[in-house]
Amino acid sequence: MAVTAESQALQALIGELVAIPSVNPELVPGGEGELTLANHVAQWLRERSLSVTLQETAAPSRPNVIGVAKGRGGGRSLILNAHMDTVGVSGMSDPYSGKVAGGRIFGRGSVDMKAGLAIAMLAASQAARANLRGDVIVAAVADEEYRSIGSEALVKDWRADGAILTEATGLDVITAHKGFGWYEIATEGIAAHGSRPDHGHDAIGDMGGVLLGLKQLALELDSRPKHPVLGAPSVHASLITGGQELSSYPAHCSVQIERRTIPGETRQQVQDEFQTIVASCSAADRNFRGELRTLLWRDCLDLAPDAPIVTSLVRSITKVTGTKPNVLGASGWTDAALLASAGVPAVIFGPTGDGAHGEEEWVDIGSVETCYEAVLATMREFCA
Ligand SMILES: [Zn+2]
Repeated sequence: MAVTAESQALQALIGELVAIPSVNPELVPGGEGELTLANHVAQWLRERSLSVTLQETAAPSRPNVIGVAKGRGGGRSLILNAHMDTVGVSGMSDPYSGKVAGGRIFGRGSVDMKAGLAIAMLAASQAARANLRGDVIVAAVADEEYRSIGSEALVKDWRADGAILTEATGLDVITAHKGFGWYEIATEGIAAHGSRPDHGHDAIGDMGGVLLGLKQLALELDSRPKHPVLGAPSVHASLITGGQELSSYPAHCSVQIERRTIPGETRQQVQDEFQTIVASCSAADRNFRGELRTLLWRDCLDLAPDAPIVTSLVRSITKVTGTKPNVLGASGWTDAALLASAGVPAVIFGPTGDGAHGEEEWVDIGSVETCYEAVLATMREFCA
């Protein structure tokens, strides 16, 4: 893209969005949250004739912004989804500068993902003037960096025939990624003075059998048939706590576990695997008291390569860049899975950058322009 009015608008908008802090308060106590940014995004979209609502999420004062460019009717609808929250800024010298240098825009959230948010906003504002048949819905969501309460709220009220998440992918198209589950297994012992083994029962010792079971499960998962794109499922212990003090039998121990899943694995099946570990510890020791809890479950993303949103996006990128993009699987989980599980085929396609959770974050301006042009072309074709 030459230095056009649109390119300048895009850069200016990214700068504006980076300058408004929106650190996720669940990650950093005292973080600003999304409200100020949400009001700014809402105002910007209203000024460009979109019909805008602030949608409540599960947390107070952390709304989504939904802007709709209404089509004439009879066409396919498209959601452009981007999150407003960022991770913290510790160690960064000037996190909200939005400084432009060497073809890059710097600052917290530049690549993750205020550039993507700006792309979605500007594209939707073009839709408002493009006389399309289908609706274009820009969804600026809260809390993607923590528990995704934003996209969870979004899919309760909003549907579309396709969605693009403009999260940074280096201009690759991501159609698949793993899902995950978070679990806790707690063992119960009996607190007693260390000199009284006749009274006490060691909850941490009991966790030994659980950890061994997890280790065996990890090996077994690795030997299962692999998904062609995403590889093998996996499991690991993440956090462990237990005990009161050095001279006592520990009354409690708990281990929190993460399980990464591949398409085809069900919530029930994964839960049963952990239940089997607990059951075999019980069978081996009649004093063992262990309990399994599911903390969170997130589906995989596994979009058909011939889904219309994929083919339309691939065609548009090819038109804009002259080369066919890579269509890939990614390792990390995204909000796209929430949309896909709700029946909205969602792909991830965004610009290039680095330092998403690091001390120097930047986004490449050339890739932002390419991404914007490709999203615009997709919108014009998909919603025509
Ligand atoms: Zn992100």
